[in-house]
Amino acid sequence: MNEHVLDKLKVLAESAKYDISCASSGTTRKNRPGTIGSTEGWGICHSFTEDGRCVSLLKIMLTNACIYDCAYCINRRSNDIPRATLTVQELIDLTIEFYRRNYIEGLFLSSGVINNPDYTMERMVRVVKELRTNYHYNGYIHMKSIPGASRELVNEAGLYADRLSVNIEIPKEQNLKMLAPEKDHQSIYKPMFYIQQGVLASADERKRFRYAPRFAPAGQSTQMIIGATDESDKDILQLSTSLYQRPSMKRVYYSGFIPVNSYDTRLPALKQAPLVRENRLYQADWLMRFYGFRANEIVDDSYPNLDLEIDPKLAWALRHSEAFPIDVNKADYGLILRVPGIGVKSAGLIISSRKHRRITASTLTKMGVVMKKARFFITCGELPTFTVNEVTPEYLRLALMSKKSSRKEPDSKQLSFVFTE
Ligand code: SF4
Repeated sequence: MNEHVLDKLKVLAESAKYDISCASSGTTRKNRPGTIGSTEGWGICHSFTEDGRCVSLLKIMLTNACIYDCAYCINRRSNDIPRATLTVQELIDLTIEFYRRNYIEGLFLSSGVINNPDYTMERMVRVVKELRTNYHYNGYIHMKSIPGASRELVNEAGLYADRLSVNIEIPKEQNLKMLAPEKDHQSIYKPMFYIQQGVLASADERKRFRYAPRFAPAGQSTQMIIGATDESDKDILQLSTSLYQRPSMKRVYYSGFIPVNSYDTRLPALKQAPLVRENRLYQADWLMRFYGFRANEIVDDSYPNLDLEIDPKLAWALRHSEAFPIDVNKADYGLILRVPGIGVKSAGLIISSRKHRRITASTLTKMGVVMKKARFFITCGELPTFTVNEVTPEYLRLALMSKKSSRKEPDSKQLSFVFTE
């Protein structure tokens, strides 16, 4: 590989690593003697396709020489960092070369803004278009759409990319304008809307013409930065709910704010990214997408932020202890899904198995139910345990927390009372 391009690749892959729409971003673990592999390097990351396959992607920016000055971004124009810009041909060659060597199965392409949004977007579209048409590249492509890009360019991108995404970055517009003065929500929501229209129009056309071109078949995604501004989890989850109501929106990613520009006084003085909060938001997101929870059940005016010590499903169950215990041999699927420790798979197994036999505690364990949580919220005839209401929600919270953390250890005699089999 050309040394010049290799140098650019190192700079640009490094600059792309803070975008977490691919699962392996943000980790720094160097290769050490006696070990194999490293999470640092030239931006090969992993993502999951619709059918659950894990694919490796070349995660790279077209350029990190950005004209914008977003406070939370390492690539902002006021930072003194190495800059690089790949030509369209260099990016194509890199992708094809990596693909042929079996290093990657796809491309994740983003970019800083050069000159203006359309100038940048036009180059990105040329990359994906030429890969598909001239090089017959059939691998996965996830392309970021630049905020403020025109409808024509977004429409063209959708013909070649599998997934398109536009990052919301900051949930409330006034906070976005404070940290990223060159951006506003309109410049983000417009391309999102163009993508949605393209996906719907293509689905409609394919009903009539079997070989009509597909438009962004893996839909769109977006990302929010968590903890850089004062939005509550309620604000964030309400926004996610409205985004998931858009037919083409597949994923909302939550990226714990990484303090890369600690000199900027508009940003909170964090030492590290709020990873526990990020994780709790993903759990809440999962509850909304697969467990039938609404955002206002998980967080509301009385509880605008997620409990960082316990997962949101357990937190909900403790706040609604009057709904428990439920009888797993009689309760409907939706209610069984709300029991802490019971997942989608085990809830399905309970419903199908109980047609043939009575569900017992040992059956539940075999189904993969996490009994150390679930047993306080269910009855099934043989559970020699106390329910959440007998133990009290406050005490159970403390007891289940102390299983993971010793920060608020309750009295050990009382604990043995709660956890006696
Ligand atoms: S537009 Fe903002 S977030 Fe994107 S690369 Fe430029 S400075 Fe960073």
